[in-house]
Amino acid sequence: MIERTQERFGIWPERLVADTAYGSAPNLAWLVEDMSIEPQIPVFDKSARNDGSFERADFVYDHEDDSYICPSGHRLRRSNRNFSTPRSGVDKDGSIRYRARQQDCQSCAFHQRCTPNMPARKVTRSIHEGARDLARDIATTDAYLVSRRQRKKVEMLFAHLKRIMKLDHLRLRGPNGAKDEFHLAAAAQNLRKLAKIIPMPATALT
Ligand code: SF4
Repeated sequence: MIERTQERFGIWPERLVADTAYGSAPNLAWLVEDMSIEPQIPVFDKSARNDGSFERADFVYDHEDDSYICPSGHRLRRSNRNFSTPRSGVDKDGSIRYRARQQDCQSCAFHQRCTPNMPARKVTRSIHEGARDLARDIATTDAYLVSRRQRKKVEMLFAHLKRIMKLDHLRLRGPNGAKDEFHLAAAAQNLRKLAKIIPMPATALT
C-alpha cells in the first residue's frame, strides 16, 4: 500500500500509525530501517512476567559492551565461553540469548526471584531491538498520544461498519465489488452521522 500510494500519488508517509498487530520486531525494523518511516505503533512484547520475577526490562542493555547488566550488577553475555569458531548466537526466530554465569547466579541473593527453576538466567534480545527501542521511545511522546486518539477514531468507524452496519463480509466479488460496497457503506455511515448532527425540522402545525 505504501509503495502503491507513492507510485500513484507521489506521497510518502513520515509516520505510520497502527495497533499492536503491526508491532512485531520484523515489521518495526522494516519500517525504520528499510522505509525510513516513524512507527507510531505499540511494540508487540511478551517479555512481561506476572509472577513477580524479574522481567527483561529489569536488565539494562549496554550497547558498547553488547551485554546486559542484571539487577545484582553482573553481566549476561552472548557466550561465557571462548569458541575457536565464533558463533553468531542468533536463533531461527531472530533472537539472541544472553546468559549469566552459573557461578554468579548460584551465589546471588536474588536467585529465587530471578531464575528459580534454572541454574543461570537467560535474557533474549531481538536482532531488531533497535527499532523496537525507537518505537518505545516514540510511544512516550505527545505526538504519539495524538495519533493514538486519531487511530481509535478510525478503528471505531471500521468497528461500526462491521458490527452495526453488518459489513463483516463482502457480497460482491473482486476489487471493484469491494470498492462499491465500501463506498456505499461509508456513504450510509456519513448520512447516519449527519442525521444525528442536523436537528429534525419542527413538525408544522396544521
Ligand atoms: S540470579 Fe543471576 S542474573 Fe539474576 S540477578 Fe542474580 S546474578 Fe543476576
